[in-house]
Amino acid sequence: MTQEKCKIAVGSDHAAFSFKEEIKNYLSGKGYEVRDFGTCNTERVDYCDFGFAVGEAVARGEFERGIVCCGSGIGISISANKVPGIRAVVCSEPYSARLSRLHNDTNVLALGARVVGIELAKMIVDEWVQTPFEGGRHAQRVEKIRQYELHKAAGDVQQIRPRATCEGKLSIGVDLGGTNIKFGLVDASGKVLLSSKEKTPAGQGDAAIVDSILFGVRRLLNESGAALRSVESLGIGVPGTVEPKTGVILFAPNLHLANFNIIAPIHKAFDIPVCVTQDTRAAAWGEYLVGSGQGVSTVASITLGTGVGCGMVLNGSIFHGGLNTAGEFGHMIVESDGRPCNCGRCGCLEAYAGGSAILRDARSVIKDLPQRLKKDEECISVEDVFELAVHGDVEARQITDQAVRYLGIGIVNLVNLNSIEIVSISGGISNAPDTLLLNPLREFVRNRAYKLTSEKVHLCKSSLGEDAPLIGAALLYCEESYRTALLA
Ligand SMILES: [Zn+2]
Repeated sequence: MTQEKCKIAVGSDHAAFSFKEEIKNYLSGKGYEVRDFGTCNTERVDYCDFGFAVGEAVARGEFERGIVCCGSGIGISISANKVPGIRAVVCSEPYSARLSRLHNDTNVLALGARVVGIELAKMIVDEWVQTPFEGGRHAQRVEKIRQYELHKAAGDVQQIRPRATCEGKLSIGVDLGGTNIKFGLVDASGKVLLSSKEKTPAGQGDAAIVDSILFGVRRLLNESGAALRSVESLGIGVPGTVEPKTGVILFAPNLHLANFNIIAPIHKAFDIPVCVTQDTRAAAWGEYLVGSGQGVSTVASITLGTGVGCGMVLNGSIFHGGLNTAGEFGHMIVESDGRPCNCGRCGCLEAYAGGSAILRDARSVIKDLPQRLKKDEECISVEDVFELAVHGDVEARQITDQAVRYLGIGIVNLVNLNSIEIVSISGGISNAPDTLLLNPLREFVRNRAYKLTSEKVHLCKSSLGEDAPLIGAALLYCEESYRTALLA
């Protein structure tokens, strides 16, 4: 399409009648073919019909673009947007008009006659009619919106979730933890249809772990009534370093496993594709696909447990790193020559912001912690320390504030380094009120991260919560590199 020659449908209500006349003359003077869909005088009318008329003309393909005007531009843009295929936007300055073309391929521009003067309106119109759609990654989003409209009209919204290729299939997710192994039958939208768990036979050898997984999967299938042939694949999240291509668990200290191929015996038993990754990466993948990381390409998922875990999806793919050790966020150095960490180094984030560290701080500073909490010493958890802080305990608050500040330092470094769009936070502590955790973290990141990153990055609570590794593991077969491997 030649931008200069595109055909433009225009329309307005009474309030913007003379404003529209000026826009029409301006466009005609520049050689555009313009047709007016009304109104044709200043007699009071509803804007709706004119928004619909211009929208329909564009949706039918008779006109490449539409320009609609009313007092604020808002009502008539909403009307035009109700026509399937229309992407209308109200603009009050040229920059957003330009971006709306570049990124959103808008096909109707709405102007407020009482908002912008005619000279500014002409500048907005110029920018909007001349800017082409950039395509690329933006094309996927425009297509996604179009697909949603199509399926919504057909009464079938489920069909488009999640991202392509995973439709209509069931899979099994296994979250192999140090204490429990969780199993879930998961559909393509990430919904857990049925779940169960078994005790982890940690320290009893490789075979015991495999036997527990086989037993748990068989039980899940029996209880659900699902046939094995209806299951697309089985995914496992492991708390350790995994070689994803071969399925070898290189090192998982909590499970006492090293150099153990977990895929082979499970594939042999069920004869379905088996995918494996680190549990934190499975969680990030789940959040990216069907959780709080939807709609962007780069997501970090932070788990605040006894330690501090992190998985990343960068540009739509799980990031393993060249050595399969990516995302060791808990061992980011936040103090040179700082506290000793479980990993054997010093000054790691986990030694300041991990659950164990916070609890240790609380016990050492607050001598009468059990009395204040009215709990036995051994039953106290890090969540209790946050609970105490919520209720105004000054010392507890100092401890949680310090941990949150270190976490903020870690997150600033993380988002600066990787240009993260969404940081999703899960784990016991993430249930603390926003005043204690999310708000101070957001403020810290806003004030400390690289300016362009700080303006855009979004920090939020995980929407999948503790099911994130299970769901993400189940949906591993949707990930490009796994899918390619499975097809090979
Ligand atoms: Zn460490």
